[in-house]
Amino acid sequence: MPSVHVDRQRVDDYLQAMANKTLPFTLEELEGIAAQVPTPFHIYHEALIRENARRFARAFAWVPGGFKNYFAVKALPNPYILEILKEEGMGMDCSSKAELLLCQATGILGQEIIFTSNDTPAQEYQKAAELGAIINLDDFSHIDYLDKALGGLPETLCFRYNPGPLKQGNVIIGKPEEAKYGLTQNQILEAYRIVKQRGVKNFGLHTMVASNELNPEYFVETAVMLFELAVDIKSRSGVEVSFINLGGGIGIPYRPEQEAVDLERLSSGIEAAYRRILEPAGLGSVRVVMENGRMVTGPYGWLVSRALHKKDIYKQYLGLDACMANLMRPGMYGAYHHISVPARVGGPTKVYDVTGSLCENNDKFAIDREIPDPVLGDLVVIHDTGAHGHSMGFNYNGKLRSSEVLYQGPGKWRVIRRAESYHDLFATLDHPGLSSVLNSL
Ligand SMILES: *Cc1c(COP(=O)(O)O)cnc(C)c1O
Repeated sequence: MPSVHVDRQRVDDYLQAMANKTLPFTLEELEGIAAQVPTPFHIYHEALIRENARRFARAFAWVPGGFKNYFAVKALPNPYILEILKEEGMGMDCSSKAELLLCQATGILGQEIIFTSNDTPAQEYQKAAELGAIINLDDFSHIDYLDKALGGLPETLCFRYNPGPLKQGNVIIGKPEEAKYGLTQNQILEAYRIVKQRGVKNFGLHTMVASNELNPEYFVETAVMLFELAVDIKSRSGVEVSFINLGGGIGIPYRPEQEAVDLERLSSGIEAAYRRILEPAGLGSVRVVMENGRMVTGPYGWLVSRALHKKDIYKQYLGLDACMANLMRPGMYGAYHHISVPARVGGPTKVYDVTGSLCENNDKFAIDREIPDPVLGDLVVIHDTGAHGHSMGFNYNGKLRSSEVLYQGPGKWRVIRRAESYHDLFATLDHPGLSSVLNSL
């Protein structure tokens, strides 16, 4: 473990307060940062990310060979964050070449990467193989495709299982039999048999059937399903898997009334299944790993914006200087994100639709939400944007992607991504008129 100082008391106090969606920054701190970094920006809390990572690892300390969470890079693809998670012992779960390049840049290599992609181009497999990543195949037909792309199969290979009607999905991820991912049960048994014949030496088994799931039992059931499948694979194809990847999808309490997943309970349920199913089958040294993104960084990021306009028509609107291009989840799937107005805590409240400026009526951070009534210019903070927040951003309507700030303790913070400029936005357009406009900015 690195010697980065984490003030446990402060962190514990905060984790307690987090249930009430209290901010871990003072208003003065945020205004101080906003005086130097124009809003909107995402801010991430380093000590809380580290403490949560340690808690997660401690909960799974029983795993033979060592538990590992491969952080789903797509949740927060910033190399400064990846470095923190690497220091905390995490690997990385990549699904694209860009994500592999971020790992390469931060010295995360070899079996510290699992490459879980689908509909994969050959050059992305080649990049994954060049870095020595564990390749996780999404389809039976990719055995030959990979063999051809690499000129031979790698020594280690993993397959993604789709249980189809055997497992209920949840709202975000949908029903497994309607999901595009993974191999069927019959295919996966055959796949292990074939790749073993073709020289593969180490085998992994993976599934990902949940997203933002708060019920720990769901993950225990998933583990039972995969453990039983591993036993079946051993008896029917003679292949002993050396690791089982339970996927990601551990949820976070976006709503104040929700409770965080009890990691210790989750882990002990999985441990009991491990002892009951894998050990008697002679699979007692199988490593258990996961690939969570959301629960690793999600609760430790905030989108900081300012109240720009109030509008009184058939409804009351509060317009921010941030928009859906900075945080897509509410507009995309009606996701709840808590909203604070730190200057007006305890003050009079009002019900608003909280909007951005896109020419899209679903550009709303909240609908009919009671919040402390801000004065124009007040900071308005949107919670739980540390995963699938900035990374889902886009440039529709010519909106520029925001900066990202890493908060490192009182008075200590740094910009870990600058905001986009119009030069960035138009960088791929080679047009003389545009060049002179940009030069005049
Ligand atoms: C997105 C994704 C994850 C991470 O999901 P979270 O909800 O962020 O935990 C893990 N594995 C795969 C294959 C994914 O596509």
